[in-house]
Amino acid sequence: MFIASAADAPATPGAYALALRLDAPLAVWAGKWEGLLAAGDYLYCGSARGPGGLRARLARHMRPQKRAHWHVDQLTAVASLLGAFVEEQGDECALNAALDDLPIPVAGFGSSDCRRCATHLRFWPEGAALPSRWENARKAARFT
Ligand SMILES: [Zn+2]
Repeated sequence: MFIASAADAPATPGAYALALRLDAPLAVWAGKWEGLLAAGDYLYCGSARGPGGLRARLARHMRPQKRAHWHVDQLTAVASLLGAFVEEQGDECALNAALDDLPIPVAGFGSSDCRRCATHLRFWPEGAALPSRWENARKAARFT
């Protein structure tokens, strides 16, 4: 399912891929790595297991004012939030694996507590296809 605003997300646990747009390059850090993210679109995979589930987590991501806690907070503070693909009961690493064809902008970004993935952040080049299930969800939500 693709959602444009957090209010549309289910209040159950699950995983999501947040679609973000940077209008200008952004300096970020992840562990010891510091560097620049190019302007463009990104997908960040995460999971929500706490109270309020996906809705609460996405509401936090979509709120610009917050104390930085996760790597991705550096992006959500300045990026435009395009929406999110959500999967109830889903697994963030499985979502991330479905995006294996997309470039990795920063190794270790958002995945410092993950042993399976090199990163949980992917660059989403303009026009790059997403998994067909995602594309269908996007069309169903009329998200371009
Ligand atoms: Zn992972």
